[in-house]
Amino acid sequence: MEWMSRFAFRTQSFVAATPLLAVGILACALSAVAAEPGKGVNLYSIPQEIALGRQMAAEVEKQAHVVNDPIVAEYINRLGQNLALQANAPFPVTVKMIRSDEVNAFTLPGGFVYVNSSLMKMADNEAELASVVAHEIGHAAARHATRQATRGKLSKLAAIPLTALTGWGGFAARQVAGAAAPVAGLSFSREFETEADRLGLGYLSEAGYDPNASVEMFERIASMERKTPGAVAKLFLSHPPMGDRILKTQAAIAKLTREATAYIVNTSDFETVRARVMAGAE
Ligand code: ZN
Repeated sequence: MEWMSRFAFRTQSFVAATPLLAVGILACALSAVAAEPGKGVNLYSIPQEIALGRQMAAEVEKQAHVVNDPIVAEYINRLGQNLALQANAPFPVTVKMIRSDEVNAFTLPGGFVYVNSSLMKMADNEAELASVVAHEIGHAAARHATRQATRGKLSKLAAIPLTALTGWGGFAARQVAGAAAPVAGLSFSREFETEADRLGLGYLSEAGYDPNASVEMFERIASMERKTPGAVAKLFLSHPPMGDRILKTQAAIAKLTREATAYIVNTSDFETVRARVMAGAE
């Protein structure tokens, strides 16, 4: 009887413990998923990050000229969705194009990615453009904005002027003629930039693009800055030195096993949309 009751007790406690155990396993599974990418402390919940990003995106879209041309808008977002499929981001990602001659792309919290039209103009093919978008989606998926905010480097993310976060020094300076360009003092840590390069390269090749396009795009951006100083947004250049990025990316490409012949380099859609952007699509 004593044995029976002890057995019963044990059975009961096991049954009672099972849901907890299940929760524990689930939590482990979730943290394993969350560990790559986006590992590290983040004080922002996903809904908080989305709400913050939505607010900032509304502000950006008030100030910047988002390209509404349906063919351009559909194309750039579709390109982003194909890459985001590889990213397993904790929120949906949207990609929009901003009409601007400044070479820049940036990511707000909550998966809001913006690519300047200048980047499409300078890219030679879809894979090169995709390499930049993939890097930005890497920042989004790894939640770099809120992780950096958590670290206290951006103590009040929402209070920071957008020009600082998005590197719109040039844009703001043109708006207020004669005024000194606001200091674009904010950028992701070097560690986050390196992580975004690594993640982006993975999405690029998983989505079927030639990963060498990322190196070609880095070289294109570096040569643009050499030929036309100031053409590239300061924030964009604040990434780790191009030489380092190229070497690291080349080393990572060497480890990829996919057959080069299977890669996409260009599409007719890219050519059509690029021609529209060149012609001044609004
Ligand atoms: Zn970056």
